[in-house]
Amino acid sequence: MSTSTQTCVPNITVDQFKGCLLAALLGDCIGALFEGKQEVPMEDLDDLFQDLVNEESTLDQLVPLEYTDDTAMLKSVAESLIRNKCFKATDMANMFVSEYFESPGRGYGQSVVDVFAKLKKVSDPFQPAREQFSGSGSYGNGGAMRIAPAALFAHQNTQHMLDIAAQATKITHTNRLGVHGALLQALAVQKALLADKRKPIDSKTFLTELKKEMKSIEKDLDKDEDESYTNKLDKIRHLLNDSKTSVKDVVRALGHGIAAHESVPTALYVFLRSLQPIPGIECDNPVSRTIQYAIALGGDTDTIATMAGAIAGAYHGLEHIDRVLLGRVEGKEYIEDLAVRLFDAVEKSGCSEPEVER
Ligand SMILES: [Mg+2]
Repeated sequence: MSTSTQTCVPNITVDQFKGCLLAALLGDCIGALFEGKQEVPMEDLDDLFQDLVNEESTLDQLVPLEYTDDTAMLKSVAESLIRNKCFKATDMANMFVSEYFESPGRGYGQSVVDVFAKLKKVSDPFQPAREQFSGSGSYGNGGAMRIAPAALFAHQNTQHMLDIAAQATKITHTNRLGVHGALLQALAVQKALLADKRKPIDSKTFLTELKKEMKSIEKDLDKDEDESYTNKLDKIRHLLNDSKTSVKDVVRALGHGIAAHESVPTALYVFLRSLQPIPGIECDNPVSRTIQYAIALGGDTDTIATMAGAIAGAYHGLEHIDRVLLGRVEGKEYIEDLAVRLFDAVEKSGCSEPEVER
């Protein structure tokens, strides 16, 4: 266990690392109950959350809520970074593969299962993903859903963080949209972690700073490219500016699917919108509200709630994780310990560059 409470960057605490990974876990486990539902009635969801946070409730038949591929892969990203004190592609790929074959029933998509099968037979950890879909690679959100530990690990050096996030994603997803989605998610977690907690987040500034980073990442794209993350960030700003934005408006503008560009910006919007109360959501805990609102959008609920949860948890920290809610999910002790070990690894990290070329 760590004896330290802060990283070299002032005011970053182990409780923020715990908040990030535990909120991601909560989002995954609760979101999994609704995965694939196109519409989730806000009232039913609110009733469920009221029950889940009530110690006296008789929801025992739901306990423990199991985590899915999102958390399974997030664990491997964190464990590999902790063990090596830097990014090692072969080690991380091996961890994904062994985690999958130890517990395959976690809702993995078929294309990533195909990558795992091929990874067992090749020495280049990037080859199977690179060859997928006739060489265009997957643009799913599988890179982004697991990237929070990389953002925490390398939060002190943005370029280093982006390099690690890109490499960790390319083991399974090589399409530009899949990789850049993971980069946006990593930047959002980093920014939430580093935000000044003495004053409320200014969403406009938060988005403007992210847009600057994504513009540089997408510099080779046509500026009118509708699927660019830069354009999605503008859409988030418009949605936040309109007080009448409905669930349907969000889904129409940003999506709620398994594609990275149809879910990562959605999760970011959910985090920013959930900083304020939301009609139909009774809960006043900002992390729980984030997860509840992410699920209310339907679609790929476990992954969107995982990603929104990771950003919210990094910002709000452990003190805003509802302990009763946490008591209902699988893996909470392990994930809390993982956050402590990741925090310690940041303290001890001497590695400044990823070991594998892009
Ligand atoms: Mg999942």
